[in-house]
Amino acid sequence: VVELGLPTRSVVTTCAYCGVGCSFKAEVRGSGEATEVVRMVPLKDGGANQGHSCVKGRFAFGYASHPDRVLAPRIRESISDDWREVSWEEAIGFAARRLRAIQAAHGPGSIGAITSSRCTNEEVYVVQKMVRAAFGNNNVDTCARVCHSPTGYGLNQTFGTSAGTQDFASVDDADVIMVIGANPTDAHPVFASRMKRRLRRGAALIVADPRSIDLVRSPHIEAAYHLPLAPGTNVAIVNAMAHVVVTEGLVDREFVDARCEGFDEWAAFIAEPANSPEAVEEITGVPAADVRAAARLYAGARNAAIYYGLGVTEHSQGSTMVMGMANLAMATGNIGRRGVGVNPLRGQNNVQGSCDMGSFPHELPGYRHVGEESVRDIYNELWGVEVLDEPGLRIPNMFDAALDGSFRALFVHGEDIAQSDPNTAHVEAALSALDLVIVQDLFENETARFAHVLLPGTSFLEKDGTFTNAERRINRVRPVMPARTGKQEWQIVCELAQAMGYPMHYDDAAQIMDEIALTTPTFSGVSFAHLDAVGSVQWPCTTERPEGTPIMHVDGFVRGLGRFVPTRYVPTRERSTRRFPLILTTGRILSQYNVGAQTRRTANVAWHPEDLLEIHPHDAEVRGIADGDRVELSSRVGTTSLRASISARMPVGVCYTTFHHPVSGANVVTTENSDWATNCPEYKVTAVQVTPATTQ
Ligand code: SF4
Repeated sequence: VVELGLPTRSVVTTCAYCGVGCSFKAEVRGSGEATEVVRMVPLKDGGANQGHSCVKGRFAFGYASHPDRVLAPRIRESISDDWREVSWEEAIGFAARRLRAIQAAHGPGSIGAITSSRCTNEEVYVVQKMVRAAFGNNNVDTCARVCHSPTGYGLNQTFGTSAGTQDFASVDDADVIMVIGANPTDAHPVFASRMKRRLRRGAALIVADPRSIDLVRSPHIEAAYHLPLAPGTNVAIVNAMAHVVVTEGLVDREFVDARCEGFDEWAAFIAEPANSPEAVEEITGVPAADVRAAARLYAGARNAAIYYGLGVTEHSQGSTMVMGMANLAMATGNIGRRGVGVNPLRGQNNVQGSCDMGSFPHELPGYRHVGEESVRDIYNELWGVEVLDEPGLRIPNMFDAALDGSFRALFVHGEDIAQSDPNTAHVEAALSALDLVIVQDLFENETARFAHVLLPGTSFLEKDGTFTNAERRINRVRPVMPARTGKQEWQIVCELAQAMGYPMHYDDAAQIMDEIALTTPTFSGVSFAHLDAVGSVQWPCTTERPEGTPIMHVDGFVRGLGRFVPTRYVPTRERSTRRFPLILTTGRILSQYNVGAQTRRTANVAWHPEDLLEIHPHDAEVRGIADGDRVELSSRVGTTSLRASISARMPVGVCYTTFHHPVSGANVVTTENSDWATNCPEYKVTAVQVTPATTQ
């Protein structure tokens, strides 16, 4: 713990990093602009963390006071000009005039916005409202597009709602835990500790991951089965497990008959010999005997729970895989009670909330399609506008439309798309083609290089609002200090909407939540007063059930009957070739968070000052690469350079890196491939070559 002096008061708030959503007491001294955070103390009765934290959350306060913070609005006519610091009024007026002029010249659909999972529910809500009411279109998307959009699609198709099924505490009752495409030790450390406690007390573990992640073998924990599948073959593995369940008579018929539909058609498909573990062994690289044994272990457990991450979603079949896991859980009756379920481990603090708040181009708050007239009517009446019934542009569509000239202006709220989105050259070309880029952020990030307006954002220590974590828990975020920029982000968005001619005003963030509760059935029981009284609550939280819902689908699925969906495995088109013989997959490391904009400006940077390329000893040796050597990493879309870390936990033919530092820029090499249903990028499979760099 970094101690800066004795605190004089404390404020309970929520960590702004990962989807665990730990509660902290920010202990501070001083007041007003002189407020200083002394330390962050994890809250003993925090709903998600019960007094625990990780190295990210403990030191998070560092970035809020970092000298790189942008504190005054800036504008410039052209991106080749120098920035000019201006008043809020001038910056917002400049942005609004140019947005209106672009619409007048190119049509109402020529502008749009991208919002962020790092922002509060209230901030995201007002951004999507601004787009729908002031921009007059549905061109709003969220960074969940590039992480968990397949979760939203897949769980909605099968269960009827776009959210995880359990609370974190449920893991204490799991007898078998299956971790697929997730590395909780690094990415969700506090929940990983809880999971490990359950594993040390006797639960069995199955890990499906190309890498031998820490969980496979850690003190007092050894996975019963590690299925080191080839990147891109998730669906083949989950189908093979389901094949064993169906063909060996391990189906929970009572559950299936009472609670589900579509089973017979699905079972006929999954029983096809092509889905057997033996048939897919060559594709996945996993011995059929291990897949059979893992399937029997999962199906035979009293309670079996699936936890998964971006290693599931960031694939060309991300949505298919989510439905494949839902099929497996339904077939074995592992839904609707403690210790079971299908649980996405959300990467970002508010990725669940940003999706809940209607920031997808096809959905209004509460996952209701814009095509539903009765839903549009609610907003038309309240907002005094006509919400369009046609979905707007997704992020990749915005980039393509920017390059063909039909999309001309973008408001980027708390995202660094020039670093986080795949195929950096393509993103940069799209940003360069726009007439107007408005960035609202804490720092002059990579995307700001293409911006004409830079609106300073507020850190989590200055925000008033709520975040919703991976278990649907709505936590309060309370201001520890006044906004260093003089304005809350939701105020800036409202002022921009007003400057464009649409009246939008709230007295405070609580009033925004009241509007969310008024219009969104699953939030009807939520208010700041309720949250302040009970600490936190998991949605659905309704006026009838204000205590919330820790476990979903208990008596029936949200959609009525759980729906089996046949999930045929289709290989990704990204293949290793003679020119690019290795497969690159990407992930995160404990001390850093996403593009590192925050953690690189805290004490955490000392733990991981650069991104490394993990490569198997054999692949390194044949290339003449020694540990620590600088290497060039190339794909068909770009080349970058970073240091090698030789690691036996990588399989032969697969290498791995993180994307926390712009200088190495892993997304320079990732491609345009994406999930067939949601366009979530295929970050996890890129054919690459690795060669020693010419200069070390
Ligand atoms: Fe908790 Fe995640 Fe923050 Fe760590 S980064 S303190 S696990 S919310």
